[in-house]
Amino acid sequence: MKKLFTEDGKSIEIKLNENLYGKNSELAEKNLEILNKQGIHAIDILGSIGSGKTSIIQQLVARLHTTFRTAVIAGDLTTTIDADRIKNRGAKVIQINTDGGCHLDANLVGRGLETLDLKSLDLILVENVGNLICPSSFPVGTHQRIVVVSTTEGPYMIVKHPYIFKDATVVVINKKDMAKAMELELDQFRKDALKIKPGIKVVYTNARTGEGIPELIEKLNISKE
Ligand code: MG
Ligand code: ZN
Repeated sequence: MKKLFTEDGKSIEIKLNENLYGKNSELAEKNLEILNKQGIHAIDILGSIGSGKTSIIQQLVARLHTTFRTAVIAGDLTTTIDADRIKNRGAKVIQINTDGGCHLDANLVGRGLETLDLKSLDLILVENVGNLICPSSFPVGTHQRIVVVSTTEGPYMIVKHPYIFKDATVVVINKKDMAKAMELELDQFRKDALKIKPGIKVVYTNARTGEGIPELIEKLNISKE
């Protein structure tokens, strides 16, 4: 059973309706309509487990929440570790446990949106489940998708996951400080991403120190409606 934990820790069980998967694009469009009506900008953040999605979100929330009233929808298989890390950074956080499911879908995110007071928000960050394969088939109804790849995952994360980068607006190469230890050429990541999607924006970060986060914010180009 999929579970949604609201801001005050209440849990709601979400029944899986297999038929809804076929309707995912339709539901994604509905989510986007709801967001647009409220003037909310939404960003879906993708990346493997350990790539640094949660750390990037912590850094973004810390810098953005005074300008944009922010909420985070944190997807995870079973734990609340990420939601707990993001709390107290100035954003509202809700958690969706997918009960082993390897991606969020538009239905789950739509249920999350129902529990948030959308009138009091400007920005929603969605932390998708740590996986770069099937989320490409399940848009959740956000305005943009960013993909986080870390140098410690080795040199082939981009070339081996072409589909996810085709949908992305920004690629974040995280743990840039580890590139030397991994004997990697940082610029190769940019070349690989541009080969898959010409014009995609690439930014190098160290989410632990915050290096590169201002450049990431600039590239996200978030504005209030
Ligand atoms: Mg995480
Ligand atoms: Zn999946």
